[in-house]
Amino acid sequence: MQTLFGRLYLAALTSVSERDLIFDLTCLQKRSARKKFRRQILDEWGCCAYCGRSKPSTLDHVVPKARGGKTTKENLIAACGACNLEKSSQPWFEWYRAQDFWSPEREERILRWVNQPQVLPPVLVPTFWSQQLLPLTA
Ligand SMILES: [Zn+2]
Repeated sequence: MQTLFGRLYLAALTSVSERDLIFDLTCLQKRSARKKFRRQILDEWGCCAYCGRSKPSTLDHVVPKARGGKTTKENLIAACGACNLEKSSQPWFEWYRAQDFWSPEREERILRWVNQPQVLPPVLVPTFWSQQLLPLTA
């Protein structure tokens, strides 16, 4: 009951759909969760974020890991193998602007993606609730 309540509260707080949270809660095996996480991002994009080629097969760290980029949804975009390899650890904005296939629409989509609200891990809910309830019960 508390878990469901916490889940609904978090969904309201962060505008995250409950479906996203259930996805996180039911994928207990790391490999399975990672696969679903990757597939969700690839499906949401449907094409390479940079060149627009269909059926991208890789995820690119917008801020490269080598530059402190994290493996979080808002820092991962779908990319074809060629773009991912070519961009490597260069800053995406400078690299992308220099490409023949640069498009303002795709650049805008990337910017919207990286600036989307971050999803709090559901595991934080019980801690959050206990912190909120402690002053009331003390
Ligand atoms: Zn591409």
